[in-house]
Amino acid sequence: MATAASATNLEPSVSSFVERKHKMLIDGKWTESASGKTFPTFNPATGDVLSEVAEGDREDINRAVKAARAAFESGPWSKLTPSERGRLIWKLADLIEKHTEELAQIESLDNGKPLTVARAADAPLAADLFRYMAGWATKIEGTTIPLSVPYTPGTQYFAYTLREPVGVVGQIIPWNFPLLMAAWKLGPALACGCTVVLKPAEQTPLSALWLGELIEEAGLPAGVVNIVPGYGETAGAALAAHPDVDKVAFTGSTEVGKLILQAAAGNLKKVSLELGGKSPNVVFADADRKSAIAGAAGAIFFNHGQCCCAGSRLYVEDKIFDEVVDGVAQRANRIRMGPGLETGTQMGPLVSEEQLRRVCGYLESGKAQGAKAVAGGERMGEKGYFVKPTVLVNTNDKMKIVQEEIFGPVVTAIPFRDPEELLPKANDSVYGLAAGVWSSDIKKAHALASKLRAGTVWINCYNIFDAALPFGGYKQSGWGREMGRQALELYTETKAVCAAL
Ligand code: ADP
Repeated sequence: MATAASATNLEPSVSSFVERKHKMLIDGKWTESASGKTFPTFNPATGDVLSEVAEGDREDINRAVKAARAAFESGPWSKLTPSERGRLIWKLADLIEKHTEELAQIESLDNGKPLTVARAADAPLAADLFRYMAGWATKIEGTTIPLSVPYTPGTQYFAYTLREPVGVVGQIIPWNFPLLMAAWKLGPALACGCTVVLKPAEQTPLSALWLGELIEEAGLPAGVVNIVPGYGETAGAALAAHPDVDKVAFTGSTEVGKLILQAAAGNLKKVSLELGGKSPNVVFADADRKSAIAGAAGAIFFNHGQCCCAGSRLYVEDKIFDEVVDGVAQRANRIRMGPGLETGTQMGPLVSEEQLRRVCGYLESGKAQGAKAVAGGERMGEKGYFVKPTVLVNTNDKMKIVQEEIFGPVVTAIPFRDPEELLPKANDSVYGLAAGVWSSDIKKAHALASKLRAGTVWINCYNIFDAALPFGGYKQSGWGREMGRQALELYTETKAVCAAL
């Protein structure tokens, strides 16, 4: 197995972790899969096998759900006070912070992202999310409600609501921000008092498994968080369909989101979905040119474009179209590509061979339909899954590359004349996850923000995430909001209690 050993400056604990054969976490025990099968995860910078991981399937999901049910119904979790739950979640945040370097290295090895990014964004944001949610554990409150029941004149009632945990939750997460997506899912579920079966993406299971060790170290009782790695069509599908799971939370493609919904129909479990996007990023002529250009480049090239909210449709006011496109192209050409662990790397490989093929397929389709690459436009090298940061012009709203989510470092640039012409174009998408507006005219920027059909609108910035800021999609970008106080709604039921006095 040629892998981590050739990478630079790995922590010894990371080297030994990667070389280990990984088990799954069920009921507080690290166990083999019921079938005994394992699956490989790959180093996307080389294509070599990185680790072997226990391959979960239906039987493992059954065992994990059973453990989560027991921990929810009768285990110590249900008996802890909100304050005690909050303390454990906070402790987990501290442990993530303590292990930032290891987690960042694992993320970089498994996903391909630059170590500097994993260190600065993925790990600290995950710790911050848990801290933010730890605070909520003691603040999940109902209300008292005055009643005016017309058919029982003279009777007084005392009515109030309780917010109760929804129960056993299945969480299925993607590979683009493996640790952070685990945090977005686990944080609010635990704060609300739910128990969880988490299925990480098959491409990137390692940071979730490390997190499992930290969850144990933090002292969360057995069965509260179960982690079952495996493939989507097997372990994921079994989790989404499981009759004893009360809710499924999914982040991934819109296509799979629809399958999750069908699978969930059997027992009508609650569903929340954070799906794809094709987000418009709009630059007006009155924008601060330098920051708009840097922002437009960052909006698409951050995380190699593997962000559901990537600013992949760049709309630029026609007067400054050439200047902005040229600026973004120059930035694209300057991005230093390489393995995530190599010093100085600004963009790593795509996560998998499948993604490489997918993104290159879109590049071919764009060219065939008349698009022109003013930067990139092709794979880089023969080894690893690298695609050059790409800026495409001569595109129009009907093209596949403008309509479909590419999930790679590819932006299509399109000019517009004025806000009236721009708005229908910007909203012309089955998605509605995010949007960007660059302008020094705050009236214009806020007016456009109110009309964009998107769950997040960034003005004069992009990709700004905070544990307190809700995130989620309009249209086919999903159901529900993660982060912020809205995330608590995903993991609680409201009970109305009415007493005659
Ligand atoms: P991508 O296309 O970006 O790889 P996916 O939506 O396929 O994203 O995957 C996101 C997550 O969904 C992963 O954990 C994957 O294993 C899981 N998954 C894929 N297919 C299914 C399915 N049919 N049922 C449940 N989970 C699935």
